[in-house]
Order: sequence, then structure tokens, then C-alpha cells
Amino acid sequence: MILEHLSNILELFYPNDCIGCTRSLSKNDNILCTHCFHDLPYAYYTQQENNPLDQLFFGKIPLEFATSLLIFQPKGIVQNLIHELKYNNNQKIGALLGTLLSQEILSVKNLKPIDYIIPVPLHKNKLKSRGYNQLTSIGNNLSKHLKAPMLENILTKVNASETQTKKNKLARWENAKHNFQIQKNDSLKGKHVLLFDDVITTGATIESCAIELLKTQNITLSIASIAHTINF
Ligand SMILES: [Zn+2]
Repeated sequence: MILEHLSNILELFYPNDCIGCTRSLSKNDNILCTHCFHDLPYAYYTQQENNPLDQLFFGKIPLEFATSLLIFQPKGIVQNLIHELKYNNNQKIGALLGTLLSQEILSVKNLKPIDYIIPVPLHKNKLKSRGYNQLTSIGNNLSKHLKAPMLENILTKVNASETQTKKNKLARWENAKHNFQIQKNDSLKGKHVLLFDDVITTGATIESCAIELLKTQNITLSIASIAHTINF
């Protein structure tokens, strides 16, 4: 009874509108209306041989698989979702995206069971000022559906990079190198690890994290993102 009152009160302050088109949601909808949900720019990478992420990392890092749930479109629904997650820590969005991404991963052909899930870490100063890593809520849901624990402290970001958006592509790439460090730990030896991020653009951040993780003996690495930015 009390909970019901609380949810009614919350609804007054947080009207239940679709994040895509701002129309009010029907009771069965969550975050997005049915129309916007079906209109999401799904990547369907697991159904493609040599998908665009395979191509991006080919020759750079050895991967078991690489996939993305969505294609990133500036000023579109995907940007709204990522923004809400990143700056407002909207857990419902994290849960939705994490669940959808895990379905995508479970459809990988001949999927080798995943042992651990690792998010791209935030620098500790950033974590302190923001108060959370926006990837945690996605990771919790990946963890639940893929039945693999998430490790959030094994990989750390060592340099707070300067405002990356102001830099050009090459400078950003150079800047991202050597920014991550793996904690000495035997638990990843011989395991299949899924490294994930919200958005992959140049791939520099993922590559830099992967180089660290690949220092582990007999590790198998796979990569997933919520959205992949393609140069249109
Ligand atoms: Zn909508």
C-alpha cells in the first residue's frame, strides 16, 4: 500500500513519457513506447560475418567475437538513451539496454561461455565526481542474463585524460593509449572475458583496455557495446 502511494507520488514528479518521442507511455511500456522500441537502429552484428566491429579491430586485437546492440545516431533516440544513463544514472535504461545486449550476445553463433564481464572503467576522480559508472547498471543485467560475474576493480584507468571531445581523432587515439592498468590477478587466466562499453567510436579506448587484459595468460577476449558509431 505504501509502495503504491510512493509510486503515485513519484509519477507526479517524473511523468512516464517515452524517451524517444515524449508521448506518454502506456502501462506496459518501459522507457520507450512500442513504436520507438521497434524503430531503434539495431545493429544485428551477430548475424553478420566480419561485421563492422570485427573490421575495426582486425589485426589490432585478437577477439572471440565483437558485437554491438545499436548503431549510434547523433541527435537520435540512442543519444537520448545514452545521455540519460550517463548523466542521470537512469537505472531503468541500464536494465533495458543490458537485457537487450545480453540477448544479442546469446545469439552469437557457437558462443563460448563467458566467465567474466568487465566494463571500461572510469578514472577514480571521475567516479568520485559523477558518483557512479554508467556502465554498472548495464553490467549488472549482462551479468544476470549471461550468468557471469562482473569485475569492476580489476582494470583501472590511470590518467584522467583531458577533455577528449576537443581533440582530433589521431590525438584522441594517442591519448587513449596506456591509460589503463590491470591489477595483478590470476583469476582471468584461461578465461573468456567480455569487455564492454556504452559507445564505441574510434575503438581506441577498447583497444587500450584490451591490450592490458591480453597480458593475462591464455585469456580469450570478446567485446560488446550498446552503440557503435559509424561514419555515415
Ligand atoms: Zn516513443
